[in-house]
Amino acid sequence: MDFEALEEACKACTKCSLHQTRTNCVFGQGSRDAVLMFVGEAPGEKEDLSGIPFVGPAGQHLNKFLAAVGIDREQVYIANILKCRPPHNRDPLPAEQDCCIEYLRAQVKLIQPKIIACLGRIAAMRLITPDFKITRDHGVFHQRGNFLITAVYHPSALLRDPRKNEDMYRDMKAIRQKLDELEK
Ligand code: SF4
Repeated sequence: MDFEALEEACKACTKCSLHQTRTNCVFGQGSRDAVLMFVGEAPGEKEDLSGIPFVGPAGQHLNKFLAAVGIDREQVYIANILKCRPPHNRDPLPAEQDCCIEYLRAQVKLIQPKIIACLGRIAAMRLITPDFKITRDHGVFHQRGNFLITAVYHPSALLRDPRKNEDMYRDMKAIRQKLDELEK
């Protein structure tokens, strides 16, 4: 399936009950040639309304870190584990993740990023290891086949606890350094 067909299939998806409450399916945004891909957990209110990932306050906070380390948001790809918003922004249920994860897998296959950065514990628990602890394990890189995978704090966690901003900056700088190494 090509990118357009995948996006169309996702937007028409009724595989889990979240399709009943979504305004928009939030498929993903960014460069299809991205070397770096970010994966969050699920759309929030602003994302559900706009159909674009990470456009709300958390997204704007993420943009500041991207700018601070010199990463162009248009050059990366941003998606979520779930493409539809869970009511009241509750955590995605395992069954919902199981239904939706195939879209993300297909996105990764088509984009073939060299680095995947999970945004927050939900994505990290799904993509790195179920016992991932974000306070303990953020910023660590793991080789998985053709790509490196790591996790950083979810920007909404940083808005709740700005003391974590320093760790986020350090982890984003490390991602930037890996990108530079890949380009050598
Ligand atoms: S969350 Fe995923 S599996 Fe559920 S309806 Fe939306 S696109 Fe389909």
